[in-house]
Amino acid sequence: DDGPSENTKKIIDILDQYDAKATFFVTGNNKKCNKYIKEAYEKGHTIGLHTYSHDYKEVYSSMDAYFDDLNKIGQMVKEQIGFVPKYIRFPGGSSNTKSASYCKGLMTTLVTEVQNRGYQYYDWNGSSGDGAVRTTEQLVDQATSFHDNNIILLSHDSETKDTTVEALPKIIEYYQSQGYVFKALDLNSYVAHHGVNN
Ligand code: ZN
Repeated sequence: DDGPSENTKKIIDILDQYDAKATFFVTGNNKKCNKYIKEAYEKGHTIGLHTYSHDYKEVYSSMDAYFDDLNKIGQMVKEQIGFVPKYIRFPGGSSNTKSASYCKGLMTTLVTEVQNRGYQYYDWNGSSGDGAVRTTEQLVDQATSFHDNNIILLSHDSETKDTTVEALPKIIEYYQSQGYVFKALDLNSYVAHHGVNN
């Protein structure tokens, strides 16, 4: 989540090295790195929409504000890959507790409305914990603690999150040694949905 960034190229190269695929839920906050959206797509990764601004106050102010922003990121991604992807990740996930302070009940509306409009949203059932500052070892420990058959593992793609990049090879090696395969989301993928809290 949160890319593209100055780290996206490194992430793509590591994924390539392990023949692992991923999904990049991108924003419009670092347009000088937008060429990596195209590169990731061409390498077989899925591109998803994480909102253009990633500004909770803005995107969660109303349903119209959310969809205006979603259209904006959709068009930005289309410039890179030629179409608007139907894969969404809400900022903070569908279970975020922040939207209620800007528009009470909005997430309940959005989780249905995005699907009515042909999108699907993906939360996660595993996380490296890199939303906070963590050492590489802490990230690896947390990221490798999940056992479900299908794991959607949340990690962030950001200029400041170098430990996420450093942890990635160890995380991939661990799961591959357990027989897992890293796949990009597609329309047949397992869908993780949180409960809404608004
Ligand atoms: Zn995010």
